[in-house]
Amino acid sequence: MIYKNPYCRKMKNSYILIVSCGHCKTDIARYQKVGRGNLLRMHIDRIIEGIIDFSKKPKALLCPNCNEQLGTRITLKREKKDVYKMIRSAFNTREES
Ligand SMILES: [Zn+2]
Repeated sequence: MIYKNPYCRKMKNSYILIVSCGHCKTDIARYQKVGRGNLLRMHIDRIIEGIIDFSKKPKALLCPNCNEQLGTRITLKREKKDVYKMIRSAFNTREES
């Protein structure tokens, strides 16, 4: 993966999810997930590495292989943090073993 997030810090009680495109199955990112349950929002500071340059904080999260949109960048006002609101049907996740 081309992008390694320099700001990503190891979080307690987290596990690693591989997020992949639901259309073409390309792996998009390795992500530190906190808590069980579906991935609704992908916090940019929890992305470990990815095939997209997240330092540019693109507005739309697009699959670089098939160009389908997987998410939209939003800013959480209270936390002053950028996250990707994921499009439920557009991606798959699996736990890294
Ligand atoms: Zn794709």
